[in-house]
Amino acid sequence: MKRIVSIILAAAMLCTAALAFTSCGGSGDNKDAKKELHMATNAFFEPYEYYEGKEVVGIDAEIAKAICDKLGYELVIDDMDFDSIITAVTSGKADFGMAGMTVTDERKKSVDFTDSYTTATQVIIVPEKDAKVTDSKTLETATIGVQLGTTGDLYVSDLKKAKIERFNKGGDAVLALAQGKVDAVVIDNEPAKAFVKANKGLKILDEPFADEDYAICLAKGSELTEEINGALKELKDDGTVQKIVDKYINK
Ligand code: GLN
Repeated sequence: MKRIVSIILAAAMLCTAALAFTSCGGSGDNKDAKKELHMATNAFFEPYEYYEGKEVVGIDAEIAKAICDKLGYELVIDDMDFDSIITAVTSGKADFGMAGMTVTDERKKSVDFTDSYTTATQVIIVPEKDAKVTDSKTLETATIGVQLGTTGDLYVSDLKKAKIERFNKGGDAVLALAQGKVDAVVIDNEPAKAFVKANKGLKILDEPFADEDYAICLAKGSELTEEINGALKELKDDGTVQKIVDKYINK
């Protein structure tokens, strides 16, 4: 018995000594504490990122964690307004942005995007009863609530006869709709479902507005992009990404 204990102890000591030089049983080549990667997001966008207690959970949070685990980084999530994410990334305050963010040509002028990890659509939310907006045609002359700086904001800003109310959080736009302050909200389909579930008397119109690809954004020329793309490919190939999406979205 004593012998076994001392063998185990000796092995543990060896391992500790080895740790000082290389890693022992750990992954990657991080000798000390793992390097942190800061993810900029807006954690009011269920099911992609939202609070469960003090923790940010959701599809993006889990995919980001899986990527960081694979690459040997410690994930740190920084919650901010959606409209601040790209600046956080370009200024180096955050290492990457992940926030149900749609790849657009306009954004590509200031950031690089990884390969896409999922797709989405923009939808129109209206009151269940007596809705003024019934399709994209009647939307054109309506008062529309959107989240500032999102693709929903971008699309409706083209509607010259519409009045646009911009909010920092998608939930605030939906609240304004529930209170009758706007006629409709244009927002991503999955968060739309979560918002409609949380607010009585609202519905989503059948006709989707636009198809989009979500991806992670990084500072232009960042070496991390290739690293993340590599991890993302493995996580897509082995079904992890799909499993995470399915966990949050009942299809
Ligand atoms: N997909 C939309 C965009 O990229 C909205 C994202 C969000 O509100 N988190 O603009």
